[in-house]
Amino acid sequence: MSNNQTNNTREFQAEVKQLLDIVINSLYTDKKIFLRELISNAADALEKLRYTKIQNTDTYQPELPSEITIQTDDNAHTLTIADTGIGMTEEELVENLGTIAHSGSKAFLKHLTEGNQADVNLIGQFGVGFYSAFMVASKVTVYTRSYKPDADGCIWSSDGLGTYTIQKADLISRGTRIQLKLKEDCHEFAKPDNIKSIIKQYSSFVPFPIKLNGDKVNTIEALWTKNKNEISDENYNEFYKFIANAYDEPLFKIHFSVDAPININALLFFPKDHFERFGFGRMEPGVNLYCKKVLIQEKSEGILPEWLRFIKGVVDSEELPLNISRETMQDSALISKLRKVLTGRIVKFLAEQAQSNPDKYLEFWDKFQIFIKEGIATDMGRRKDLAPLLRFESSKSEPGKLVSLQEYLEGMKEGQDTIYYLNGPSRDFIENGPYLEIFKRKDIEVLYTYETADDYILNQLGDYEDKKLVSADQENIQLPETDDTDKTPDDALAESEVQELTKWMKEVLGDDVSEVRASKRLVDSPAILLSPDGMTNSMQRIMKLMNKDLNHFGARIMDINTSHPIIKKLDTLRKKADPFAEIAVKQLYDSTLISAGLSSDYKGMVNRMHEILDRALEYNQ
Ligand code: ADP
Ligand code: MG
Repeated sequence: MSNNQTNNTREFQAEVKQLLDIVINSLYTDKKIFLRELISNAADALEKLRYTKIQNTDTYQPELPSEITIQTDDNAHTLTIADTGIGMTEEELVENLGTIAHSGSKAFLKHLTEGNQADVNLIGQFGVGFYSAFMVASKVTVYTRSYKPDADGCIWSSDGLGTYTIQKADLISRGTRIQLKLKEDCHEFAKPDNIKSIIKQYSSFVPFPIKLNGDKVNTIEALWTKNKNEISDENYNEFYKFIANAYDEPLFKIHFSVDAPININALLFFPKDHFERFGFGRMEPGVNLYCKKVLIQEKSEGILPEWLRFIKGVVDSEELPLNISRETMQDSALISKLRKVLTGRIVKFLAEQAQSNPDKYLEFWDKFQIFIKEGIATDMGRRKDLAPLLRFESSKSEPGKLVSLQEYLEGMKEGQDTIYYLNGPSRDFIENGPYLEIFKRKDIEVLYTYETADDYILNQLGDYEDKKLVSADQENIQLPETDDTDKTPDDALAESEVQELTKWMKEVLGDDVSEVRASKRLVDSPAILLSPDGMTNSMQRIMKLMNKDLNHFGARIMDINTSHPIIKKLDTLRKKADPFAEIAVKQLYDSTLISAGLSSDYKGMVNRMHEILDRALEYNQ
């Protein structure tokens, strides 16, 4: 090979160095996954070439067969993976094999540096799979030539220790050949039997022939077009692992075909988990679009609504034109028809699972509820269909047990026409706060929502089966009347006293509250802060985080328990015009703020607490 026009040494980007350092020095996990990553890159490159050919026919060396060839050399301890795909230009080499561009990859790197190295298995999902070659190789050499007619051949080479070189070279045919000089403890990867079994394990469904030392090893199958009873669970699982780049099995699968209203053959999988949970940024869509087994679009954007981006799989429709472009794809009537049918199927499937397979459904709910809620928030047309999928803890469920809105309906009291929910950071917080008291006394179930977004979702939903959904911290709730629970206790303050007391308290608190009233809902607590109509504590918490002026949205109402000893003693002090009464009222207000999860002026409160302590201690001398 005549080459060596320039000998060009370059530094890896800092993040790549960091990643390589982990890959080379401190990974003890399954090294064999490097092969899956390199084969998947080779398949991508062939796929990209096929796609380019549809648009444009003057590709370089069109006669080369589309295939992946792997050579082992057990004497030289080398392994070579070659494809006849799209290849890379010099600039592309620098960009693709010297930097990390995607933000998710940076999050992945952070995750690894925090010691989560077992998860290196996921390397391919974060757009840095190529670098896994350095787990097994002391030197990686990439011979590549882009399909572009005037592109030069290039040789990229590195030992992974901070730098790489790129040389121009003649006589390289289109595509990419990656040669690994295996590390001493990795010589097993030059043995054909080992390589064959790794290919079978991870790459059976690569849609191009893979030849190992000349023999074809994979069976290229469009699994989704086969008859269901010819497909074993193992086939499905392997296929899932291949398309989802996963190492575990899917939680659910849906395999169906229909001819009306549109021809569809779909094989869809639900993963067991996802990475948005860990702050890895937004997932890409996971469904590939085919027409009669020919890939039209990978990771198709429009084929499912965004909130279903966690679904992996394949959709094949004979009605799709082969050369559809990304832009026309997005808004084509055909795609929206497909999306409608597919989404309907998925939602129906989940509803069925929730019924017939509740434990497994809850496993799904545990990890993926955020997507269902996103669907309710963003997909108006699906809102009503998604409501039955919601699950919450409730005042009548055991801790950790979840109920559906339907189950709530079935347990409703005579005369109850509203579904109540209450937001708080935990079950404990909700059950020890004042908001639940009246519901407990009247034996009315309340759903517990632990995510701040839940209130927003339920508010968007508005009602379920004609029953309104209402936050239990609203000031105007109307609970069914019951004699024994509604009458004012005999030891309560008299009506006239209450009037004077509440008027005076409002004066002390000023604009912090719009009104102080005698409560109809308190049992054990002295006071409670209620949200004006349409607003809930959790929404106020969000607005506080956003530094919004809460008074814009109507000030809160304070209800007091007129038979509570604290309130009665407070009234006695007020009548004596004792200045301590004002301190007590302000503290009472702060306590209700804490119960509402809205407190923030801790300094003022601590100083006041000291005054109160001082007085209490003096009293006890
Ligand atoms: P990902 O495949 O997720 O993009 P990788 O680290 O595996 O991440 O590869 C980085 C990039 O390098 C690819 O996106 C591709 O542009 C380029 N690349 C890697 N292998 C090949 C190959 N065999 N042929 C052409 N380009 C390749
Ligand atoms: Mg890759």
